[in-house]
Amino acid sequence: MKYPIYVIGHEILRKEGRNIDIETEKEEISELITDMFDAMKESEGVGLAAQQIGKSLKLFLVDASPLADELPELADFKHAFINAVITERKGDIIKMNEGCLSIPGLREDVWRHDEITIKYIDENFQEQENTFSGYVARIIQHEYDHTYGILFTDRISKVRKALIQNKIKAMALGKFKASYKTVLGNKKTSAQYLFRNVKDYISSM
Ligand code: ZN
Repeated sequence: MKYPIYVIGHEILRKEGRNIDIETEKEEISELITDMFDAMKESEGVGLAAQQIGKSLKLFLVDASPLADELPELADFKHAFINAVITERKGDIIKMNEGCLSIPGLREDVWRHDEITIKYIDENFQEQENTFSGYVARIIQHEYDHTYGILFTDRISKVRKALIQNKIKAMALGKFKASYKTVLGNKKTSAQYLFRNVKDYISSM
């Protein structure tokens, strides 16, 4: 099955996903993961959360292999993160430019920790707890946010938020170019889903 990408303004991108029961949902989640890897490849993303294909679940994928030219150690980094919980954030807080398939064409600098420890169930349904740093930690934090209804534009400065406000509003109404299929939110209600104050939304940051 092929999935289109849900765009900012759609309410599903703002809902916290539910945990997956791997005892009863293993088969369908396994299929979903395969489909999501395909969708991510088609849309040329390095990460994809279930919310971006319209599923309110604690599930995201990271495929860092397109970065292998510069970072050869990432050539095989292709993993699913089920029911993930970040247990520690440390290292320097660094600025990196981010984009998102759900916010087509926009890139902004976002500050995040350089190192995280995360507990999760992987694509083979094995429990894992690993520490990641650098580019992978960056992608994981971005995708993890999606599973809590947070977008990278929630984490940019007030000044930048003000400057891109109109662009985001237009985007939610379909004014953007994307090389992949997309789904828009309800035109009447999308405005309330554009920006969110991260501190109000999640306390464990
Ligand atoms: Zn994203």
